[in-house]
Amino acid sequence: MIIQGIRARKILNSRREETIAVRVKTLQGTFEASAPAGASKGQNEVCGFSPKGVNFSASFINALGQKIVNERMTFDKFEDLEKIEEIYRKADKTKRLEILGGNSLYALGAAILKAIAASYKLELWQFLNGHVKPVMPLLLGNCIGGGKHTREIEKPDFQEFLILPRAKSEKVFDNQYLSLQAYKEVKKILKEKDKLFYEKITDENAFISSLDNEAILQVMQEVKKRIETKFRGTIDLGVDLAASSFYDEIKKEYNYARLNGKPGKLKTDEQIDYLFNLIKKYNLAYVEDPLNENDFQGFAKLLKKVKDARLNTLIVGDDLICTNHELLEKAIKSKSINAVIIKPNQCGSWIETKKVVDLAKKNRIVPIVSNRSGETCDDTIAHLAVGWNIPIIKIGIVGKERFAKTNGLVRIERKFGR
Ligand code: PEP
Ligand code: MG
Repeated sequence: MIIQGIRARKILNSRREETIAVRVKTLQGTFEASAPAGASKGQNEVCGFSPKGVNFSASFINALGQKIVNERMTFDKFEDLEKIEEIYRKADKTKRLEILGGNSLYALGAAILKAIAASYKLELWQFLNGHVKPVMPLLLGNCIGGGKHTREIEKPDFQEFLILPRAKSEKVFDNQYLSLQAYKEVKKILKEKDKLFYEKITDENAFISSLDNEAILQVMQEVKKRIETKFRGTIDLGVDLAASSFYDEIKKEYNYARLNGKPGKLKTDEQIDYLFNLIKKYNLAYVEDPLNENDFQGFAKLLKKVKDARLNTLIVGDDLICTNHELLEKAIKSKSINAVIIKPNQCGSWIETKKVVDLAKKNRIVPIVSNRSGETCDDTIAHLAVGWNIPIIKIGIVGKERFAKTNGLVRIERKFGR
């Protein structure tokens, strides 16, 4: 496939920050993709944009686009993205893409992939999986949020309280419906139990509560009970601690604003015991970033406890891995995790993202594709999840940017599924 034109422009994401949208023109039409942005980023992520701003990154994409068109570069298979990634890396030269940023590379790669898929008259997910029947991922959504996703002072220390619905029908829409019902129940219960609840939401549209971690887990348990009695399906509970956000690197301890009702500090082993007890007490199926982002050993200790107790809890690395295959290899060697978050713009590279997904699968680590807190209406990650056969997609619950992905999944399932 030959590209006739590439244009990058600035748009706003759901947090009203500037980001990039890239348009690729071919004989088949025009294909667009845009980049999301994180708020609680891992220290090993690549930079989002050039320090000179989104305009600088966009003008580099426009110049690169001109080169691609002039040289009549061809793109026919996934690996052809290496052609642009090589030029990009040579121009930037820094490991963390500090000159150009990873977001524009990600968006350019996504738009080219959509164009290649269309050149075979395929949708992106079909092109990625070689046109096999789709297996739809489960939805993981954030109901109550704290951490870096809100500026409120009174908030839980953990960043996200999550639900993973499993409708009896196993249909995406029914899972989404269960999520929405759970979200409504959360609102009702918070109105009763949280005197400071004013229906405020985080940048991911999760509710902001002034309750502490355990009080919120009790709310989540109550929600689970109500949903499971009213609807045909079950709900698994989870948390994303984003633990680096309240870890003191110098004192080597976790600083809780509230632990059993008052401020508290936990050393690593105490944090592991505390979490293991929460996992058992609240039957947590999913625990993301439970420890500081470079504590591979701490993760391994928690995972061992979970395995020894024959629990199925996913111990998930997000900030720990940053969609980086070298960090995933380290986690595999030290047996730190049994699941990994995949956010393509953490590394900017589609080739690297695929490498991480393949490595995870090969080592029986569950890959989980995730949105970022600052999202656009691009549904590329929905296609990625289906195309690469990824069992879970972390996608939020409400808001047009999140619905773009769930609606994308529903459409794929209706048109191509059972
Ligand atoms: C997360 O930590 O899982 C998350 C969604 O954060 P962000 O997108 O803000 O980096
Ligand atoms: Mg996270």
